[in-house]
Amino acid sequence: MISVDEAFRKVAQTVNPLPIVSVDLAAAVGMTLASDVNADRDSPPWKKSVMDGFAVQASDIRAGAILQVVESVTAGSMPTLPIGQGQATRIMTGAPLPKGADAVVMIERCELDEAAGQVTINLESLASGRHVLGRAENFAAGQAVFSAGSVIRDIDVGLLAEVGAAKVNVYQRPTAAVLPTGDELVDAATMPTGPQIRNSNGPMLIAMLRSKGIVATDLGVGSDDRDVLRKKMKTGLKEDLLILSGGVSAGTLDLVPELLEECGVQPVFHKIKMKPGKPVFFGVHRRTDGRSGYVFGLPGNPVSSLVGFRLLVYLALERMAGSLQIEMPAMPHVRLSKDHQTRGDRPTFWPGRIVDSGTAERHVEPLQWKGSSDLMTLAQAEGLIEFATPGITYPQGETLPFWKF
Ligand code: AMP
Ligand code: MG
Repeated sequence: MISVDEAFRKVAQTVNPLPIVSVDLAAAVGMTLASDVNADRDSPPWKKSVMDGFAVQASDIRAGAILQVVESVTAGSMPTLPIGQGQATRIMTGAPLPKGADAVVMIERCELDEAAGQVTINLESLASGRHVLGRAENFAAGQAVFSAGSVIRDIDVGLLAEVGAAKVNVYQRPTAAVLPTGDELVDAATMPTGPQIRNSNGPMLIAMLRSKGIVATDLGVGSDDRDVLRKKMKTGLKEDLLILSGGVSAGTLDLVPELLEECGVQPVFHKIKMKPGKPVFFGVHRRTDGRSGYVFGLPGNPVSSLVGFRLLVYLALERMAGSLQIEMPAMPHVRLSKDHQTRGDRPTFWPGRIVDSGTAERHVEPLQWKGSSDLMTLAQAEGLIEFATPGITYPQGETLPFWKF
């Protein structure tokens, strides 16, 4: 049995980045940039007005100043005339400032006499640069606006579009398959009878992959039968990532590690010193196309499956997306809202919920959790509190790592 740290390191060292592909910006949300994105031009490209109003020379402005209007410029047109002393250009938000102007008076402070071609300014004074954004004040041509390794968020797409990144270089999304195992399992639409229970893990693992942008193949429930499992495994092993649940502990029907090896999977580890999730299996195999495929056999109990996924499948996904992470990441720490006693002989990952402490600090409440099949309590949790030391009482106020879901 290896430590969580070691498991982490082994996954990181085994999983390689996937190929780099160029994809349309619109399809790239959630993917990881494989190269820096540099600005191809200045932003703004010229000195521009950020208000509707009149472009002026700030030194002309005093209460009641009357200026001669030389022209009108809208966003999408260029000024054709410079302004001199005593002159102004009608200007709209986003339009380039005419030569000679160094500030903008907002329209609400102006009275335009169209017939006379004059504007009266209702302002005591104006600072040079007011309501103007200088050339390249946001960023300059050639500047890196995103660096390799960043995950493209929805809100990043605007800036990428601004710099002309219609296509971006990203790590290919992994393909994945999910295979829950167990003779007792029926799907959510079925009313279980006798010894049956519903398959919680399959839909949960598929959903967790989907929220990472991966549309997994659902292999359907595999019964605890060698031939059925082997066949489904072989289908799943065509993908970059195969995730199984169940059949990895010490029961008489826990066939998964053995059958995976028969299918050519080389075990990297089986069993981690942690609670829940001890029997996690991880292996690697060479696919027919020469690339590596990765396999996680997660324990059947739903919360054990989830913990294995949150800790190790997340990491594998990040490594496939080019992350250089090797050591366990330093999770943000939160303060315990009440005492908590740890049991057993392994580090525990315990469901917790952020509570209002009335202070700026984040406090987390360890929930009344009944163990690895208790999804009900998990539904109230926002993450896992990491209690590294078994068999002690952690006092209220202690700060501990929190693995947010
Ligand atoms: P196993 O790891 O196969 O020994 O399963 C451990 C426990 O988890 C047993 O109580 C199983 O019935 C339960 N279990 C296994 N797979 C699932 C699943 N997909 N959904 C819900 N519970 C499961
Ligand atoms: Mg089973």
